[in-house]
Amino acid sequence: MHTVEMTTKEQEQAIDKAREVAAEFRRLGPAADEQNTFCYESAGIMKDSGLVGLPVPREFGGLGADIWTVSRVATELARGDGGIALSYNMHYIMVGIMLGLLSDEQKKEWLPRIADGDILCGTFSEARGFGGLADTRAVPQPEGGWRLYGKKTWGTLSEVSDIWSGSATITDADGNLPTDFETRVANEHNFIADFDCGKVEGVRIEKTWDALGMRATGTHTIHFDGYYIPESGDCGEMRGGILANLEWASLTFASVYLGVALHTYDETKEILAKKSLGPTFAASVGDDIKTRELGYIQDGLGWMKVKNETARRVLHSTCVQLLNGDDDTWDPAMRVPLIGIAKVFCTENCLDVTRKAMHLVGGMSYRKGHPLERLYRDAAAGPFQPLTEEQTYMVIGGLELGGD
Ligand SMILES: Cc1cc2nc3c(=O)[nH]c(=O)nc-3n(C[C@H](O)[C@H](O)[C@H](O)COP(=O)(O)OP(=O)(O)OC[C@H]3O[C@@H](n4cnc5c(N)ncnc54)[C@H](O)[C@@H]3O)c2cc1C
Repeated sequence: MHTVEMTTKEQEQAIDKAREVAAEFRRLGPAADEQNTFCYESAGIMKDSGLVGLPVPREFGGLGADIWTVSRVATELARGDGGIALSYNMHYIMVGIMLGLLSDEQKKEWLPRIADGDILCGTFSEARGFGGLADTRAVPQPEGGWRLYGKKTWGTLSEVSDIWSGSATITDADGNLPTDFETRVANEHNFIADFDCGKVEGVRIEKTWDALGMRATGTHTIHFDGYYIPESGDCGEMRGGILANLEWASLTFASVYLGVALHTYDETKEILAKKSLGPTFAASVGDDIKTRELGYIQDGLGWMKVKNETARRVLHSTCVQLLNGDDDTWDPAMRVPLIGIAKVFCTENCLDVTRKAMHLVGGMSYRKGHPLERLYRDAAAGPFQPLTEEQTYMVIGGLELGGD
């Protein structure tokens, strides 16, 4: 499933470009967080960079990046700013997933547009979370196609998305959801359609996003009231389709939270390298105690470096396993949670590292506006992204105990 189209040099060029974009994100991130707004300026920066078309295969005009290159780009972007990067990560997730779902005709229709800079959002989660079968209804129309009714409560990136993708359950002609569970599962489909930043008929974006962290993602509520999806926008059965391609979510979420952990390390190192406690009489005694000379600070910073490097290696080796096709030999039922280990590891690592950073830097890091205070809040979002730690362990444990 995973192929490499770019040369090593081309991959490095994409990562260098991501570093340039990340510098802009780092400049813009604090204001977006403080004002609790999507970072609108970031859309132009991403489009100009050419990185919107990063995972689109060459034959459709994209850069043809493989999953490890996309992962490294996502890490670099998040090292700039986690919130802004997480929003464009939804785009990368959906392009990756769509590569496995779209028919040849659909690929010709959508992929060249994405290669040229059209942004894609992916909305599945509703009030009952990602696990809940879509309550959003896709009502068949006499002229063909469907009209959508319902709402998605987690619409990251929606305000700048040219294209919408997401799930809805196909109803009968009167708009009734299937009452039988198997039919309900089978009728939950993925769709793709024009979105024009929510300005299309039958769509309304309600600005509801107000959260502890990841505030620049603009994860608003999208209301559907007759949003039209032509027949060509049907991408098939939802659960099987998403789960078969979930590595694009698991591994890029892992990449974003690795980037946040690396950003945390950068900030912590810079502070600790310069910080002086002055004349001190407590655990350490001296007329000018420098933090960089304290044993536990050296130990703590080294611990952070090792933790991040371990997370990077877990992520790298999982991507390489997919590129090598190692997963062909895995139990298919285990494939999703085995890949998900990297996501769980990197999101938990990010929580550990941000917490440690605050211990080392001290009380100033707890004040509003301090970079570590924000990184700590951003890191807190990691566990909620699918598959969660609990879901991953539960699937692995259930299969180990003989479940199917
Ligand atoms: C910053 C941010 C941005 C997001 N952006 C998007 C987006 O763009 N698009 C999108 O679709 N979603 C998005 N989400 C939503 C996210 O993917 C989850 O759907 C959301 O956090 C709710 O899911 P949950 O599992 O936390 O809650 P619930 O589904 O309510 O789960 C509650 C608890 O039950 C557990 N659980 C859930 N399902 C099962 C199950 N089947 N078996 C066992 N245990 C289960 C969960 O692990 C959790 O402990 C975003 C979330 C965040 C934090």
